[in-house]
Amino acid sequence: MPIPAYDETNVFAKILRGDIPCDKVCENDHALAFRDISPQAKVHILVIPKKNYVSAEDFYLNASPEEVKGFFACLNEVTCAENISQQEGGQGFRLITNIGPDGGQEVPHFHIHILAGGRFGKLV
Ligand code: AMP
Repeated sequence: MPIPAYDETNVFAKILRGDIPCDKVCENDHALAFRDISPQAKVHILVIPKKNYVSAEDFYLNASPEEVKGFFACLNEVTCAENISQQEGGQGFRLITNIGPDGGQEVPHFHIHILAGGRFGKLV
């Protein structure tokens, strides 16, 4: 099955267009970070690319090096600002990205969940 076509009506596309608000944490030329509307941990922030990528798979296959660098720079800015980065003495965090139906992806615009603020159990 090929990577699905990008659906312009998904909720993160609406956030990027400014059609609906978000609780923004930070942004740069390539990425936006905002708080999850239904947090599953004390810190639950989503990082999304500004261009249209359906999933992590779409992103790592098709994004430019500048976009990849900008995306992870945004993610790094979030973990530093939230005092969870181990670079700065924080206790760490968990990154999750769901891909496709078997991965449990609900919103078809690539995003990484940053979860922190407690000691999580092992998933794998
Ligand atoms: P996933 O299942 O990996 O696609 O995760 C989608 C995430 O988007 C869920 O954790 C939702 O709570 C979150 N979400 C959905 N709508 C919004 C919104 N308008 N603002 C912030 N987060 C949202």
